[in-house]
Amino acid sequence: MYDVVVVGAGVGGLYSSLVLAYKGFKVALVESKPRGKIGDKTCGDAIGVHHFEHIGLQIPDSVVDHRYRGVKIKSPSEEHEIIVPGEGISVNRVGFGQWLLKNALDRGVELYDEHFLVGVEVREGRVSSVKVKKTGGRVVDLRARFYIDASGARPALRTRLPEDWPISERPYETDFNLAYREVVELESGVSEADIHYAVIYLNARVAPGGYWWMFPKNREGTVVNVGLGVIGGSGFNPRHNYDRYLRDRFKGRVVHAGGGIVPTRRPLPTMVWSNVGSVGDAAYTVNPVHGGGIGSTMEAANILATHLANVLEQGEPDTGNMWEVNLKYLEAYGVKQASLDVLRMYLQRLSNDDFDWIIRNRLVDGSAVYDIGVKGSLGDRVVSSISTVIKLLGRPSLLGELRIVRNYMNKVTTLYRDEYPRSPEGIRSWASRVEELFDEYARLIGFNRGPRVKW
Ligand SMILES: Cc1cc2nc3c(=O)[nH]c(=O)nc-3n(C[C@H](O)[C@H](O)[C@H](O)COP(=O)(O)OP(=O)(O)OC[C@H]3O[C@@H](n4cnc5c(N)ncnc54)[C@H](O)[C@@H]3O)c2cc1C
Repeated sequence: MYDVVVVGAGVGGLYSSLVLAYKGFKVALVESKPRGKIGDKTCGDAIGVHHFEHIGLQIPDSVVDHRYRGVKIKSPSEEHEIIVPGEGISVNRVGFGQWLLKNALDRGVELYDEHFLVGVEVREGRVSSVKVKKTGGRVVDLRARFYIDASGARPALRTRLPEDWPISERPYETDFNLAYREVVELESGVSEADIHYAVIYLNARVAPGGYWWMFPKNREGTVVNVGLGVIGGSGFNPRHNYDRYLRDRFKGRVVHAGGGIVPTRRPLPTMVWSNVGSVGDAAYTVNPVHGGGIGSTMEAANILATHLANVLEQGEPDTGNMWEVNLKYLEAYGVKQASLDVLRMYLQRLSNDDFDWIIRNRLVDGSAVYDIGVKGSLGDRVVSSISTVIKLLGRPSLLGELRIVRNYMNKVTTLYRDEYPRSPEGIRSWASRVEELFDEYARLIGFNRGPRVKW
């Protein structure tokens, strides 16, 4: 019998396990990859250092490939750019994963690598065990007082829970970006001007409903992480677009190639239910606009695991005594995330002409983008400066759209910040209100959310 079984050894599962083991709890960590591959995640590898500061984690230099001074956002024509200042790093994903794993194992976490979660047993409203299986091996039953689903964007555990548990919510296809990326050792390095920046290219032809990126991975600019994301349900294949638009531009030796899905949406209605919790991509803690999820996954894991440790010390976890996790996560990141989901849906409808126009005319500058990213709202200063430019340049329809987006960002912020239920009882009616609000907004801006996913 364990205190906690954690499913998935990505950053979310590793960090949750580490926090819990550090506090003396008996943790089983289940991961389908072999031990040496833990951390090997197809990713852009870029993360803002403020995330590490928030959770007080100091990572060794050995897992940092490169350091950024900020993010550059380039227009589709690539003639204009916005520089958003802010320190970031390119993390060595395998190195980081292995470092977290070593720390977790040193603290006594028991690793079940090469084990897949294949079943969940629910008895009297609680998960009584999970079934895990090694390839070619037998099924093993793992029992615990609490279970954490950290199994990524296609959650293995919470999708096996009863459908009337709000933690099992199924997302829409358009809630995801499908992404493909390669790490390339270039024949000729990137331009000196871009070496110290994570560069994002807005281009609705190359990356419909997403963006494409070029993140240098060393100081010389000779190794880059290049990839793109497209909105789910659109029929576009990111790998085909990579071959078509980017491969010739980034010639060299491919060090790593792979695809993946990113949930670019508001968080799950609840991260906890009964004796189950969820963090990271499994709980949709990714930033909907830029798709970064490493940092917010660790923040979510820190909040869940720290609270859980306190509850486990006093008794058995349940929906009621775990509820505060939702309130803490919303305050730390979730409210902003939900509001940015409104902006994300609008941005996904813009054309290359729109993007070029916006960046060429300096509708927003680096500090405005930074503000939107940090606060998740279109503040008065930003809106008034955008409105002035729009009026001057005469695009009244854009002004109308801006008002709609701002209005719904505010409504969503209020719903998540002020009206989120303080206890589990109100969650179902609150979740219905969220869906109604997003439906209404989608209709207004002509955004087709598509069907819910099958899994
Ligand atoms: C192409 C791409 C680029 C990205 N770029 C960035 C970026 O530059 N910056 C950033 O911050 N974020 C980025 N992200 C998002 C970021 O990678 C994720 O948000 C983050 O890694 C989520 O961590 P996690 O621990 O929740 O999930 P994961 O890292 O996906 O870990 C889940 C783990 O669960 C395991 N698992 C799954 N199913 C089972 C099962 N049935 N049984 C046992 N184990 C199982 C998996 O093997 C995996 O190890 C990107 C994502 C993609 C796909």
